[in-house]
Amino acid sequence: MSGAECGSDMDCSDSDCGDAGFEDYYSSQGWDGEADHDMEFDQKVRDPEFAVYECLRVEEVERLLNESVELLSTNMHITPSLAKLLLHEHEWALQDILTKYQDHPLNSIIDPRIKFIESDEANIHKNKSISPTLKHLNESACSVCFTTLPGEKFSTLTCGHSFCKDCWCIYFETQILQGVSTGISCMASDCSVLAPEDFVLSLLSKPTMRERYQQFVFRDYVKSHPQLRFCPGPNCQIVIRSKELRAKRVMCNSCKTVFCFRCGMDYHAPTDCNTIKRWLTKCADDSETANYISAHTKDCPKCHICIEKNGGCNHMQCYNCKHDFCWMCLGDWKTHGSEYYECSRYKENPNIAHESVHAQAREALKKYLHYYERWENHSKSLKLEEQTLGEIKSRINKKVMNASGTWIDWQHLFEAASLLARCRYTLQYTYPYAYYMEAGPRKELFEYQQAQLEAEIENLSWKIERAETTDRGDLENQMDIAEKRRITLLKDFLET
Ligand SMILES: [Zn+2]
Ligand SMILES: [Zn+2]
Ligand SMILES: [Zn+2]
Ligand SMILES: [Zn+2]
Ligand SMILES: [Zn+2]
Ligand SMILES: [Zn+2]
Repeated sequence: MSGAECGSDMDCSDSDCGDAGFEDYYSSQGWDGEADHDMEFDQKVRDPEFAVYECLRVEEVERLLNESVELLSTNMHITPSLAKLLLHEHEWALQDILTKYQDHPLNSIIDPRIKFIESDEANIHKNKSISPTLKHLNESACSVCFTTLPGEKFSTLTCGHSFCKDCWCIYFETQILQGVSTGISCMASDCSVLAPEDFVLSLLSKPTMRERYQQFVFRDYVKSHPQLRFCPGPNCQIVIRSKELRAKRVMCNSCKTVFCFRCGMDYHAPTDCNTIKRWLTKCADDSETANYISAHTKDCPKCHICIEKNGGCNHMQCYNCKHDFCWMCLGDWKTHGSEYYECSRYKENPNIAHESVHAQAREALKKYLHYYERWENHSKSLKLEEQTLGEIKSRINKKVMNASGTWIDWQHLFEAASLLARCRYTLQYTYPYAYYMEAGPRKELFEYQQAQLEAEIENLSWKIERAETTDRGDLENQMDIAEKRRITLLKDFLET
């Protein structure tokens, strides 16, 4: 995940120490009671990233799914297993199913893969695949293994196809071993009717297979449910539920993994799900091209002494000649004030269409590297700033031990650091968005706001690195400005 969870693992025993972790700013919102609607609306207006969701344990998810299953099975007079099949095939849209089938008798169900047993009809079909000469002996030959067996050794699926129980069992086991569960269909080669859960379970003999099948089935149900999403955290069992399928930031309350509810990847506002996927694929494909820029050292543009970057801030000051410059573009920092900040913008060659193919390819690479370098650099800065916070913590710890102030006196520093992490994270994700944006007034506005945000973030980072000598009011003011810039950009460009 992002290196943004700054303040969450503070190692101090003092109970009133400031543990203003990143998550405090984004604390998961409770499930909405209808009465809270006004409040929710207010929060949405104030905070474009506001999301209503809840973290569910497996038992809670099962209860939730079973409510729909029960409702459907009582309403349609079908077995719970068939109700599950129907719900799964219709992405758990209970109301839609009820409306759709209200006026239809069960056997005219539109979905050809789901069949309902109706006692008389089923009995007629039952003997279809059984050799007629053996019928009177109540013995039949299984058309898979050709063994002749008494009738009770056979099982018939809702489509009427009958095979011996051992053949069904072997067939189901091989399907499960291949990861198939809700999608298991009839064994007859020309039949696509799905096998309901109770039918499969009644024929599986090994307990491990039954368990595995039930796990797979559960996984499929959650995946087909538009309100549910598995937490992508390693070995985490939590399922997040949100009533809106939107690209919102959600955090698992168990393993603290933060991700986008819609696509399940790292949260990526203001970039949308498809664009971030494209960008990450491109970065993976072009990793070799991009590798050469990941340098930790650069030369001071004035005195040419070698400078190593060990903090997150991109406003550098040469330790030798005191020259202030920008790590990204090596430009004079004086021209990086928020008024003139041009460092984030890529200036495209307006005549590129008339240039040679080679020149166009070079230009395309130059453009990509510009965005990639900034994307990568902010990601590194996030990690470096996390280290800085760790150093600040231990320095403050010493101060508190020496009785110069309490943890509360330094609380604002942790708040500043987690706010910085949040702002820089958003800034990092503005680069893929800008890279794919069409030239025009909207892109100009975006890049203007991006530049403003970037300038304020570097100011904030500079002040936090010098935290103990920075005036508290000054720092808090800078926090306020940076967060306002971030919210403005998200409000204007986050698809809501
Ligand atoms: Zn058989
Ligand atoms: Zn069949
Ligand atoms: Zn989790
Ligand atoms: Zn997404
Ligand atoms: Zn220098
Ligand atoms: Zn610059």
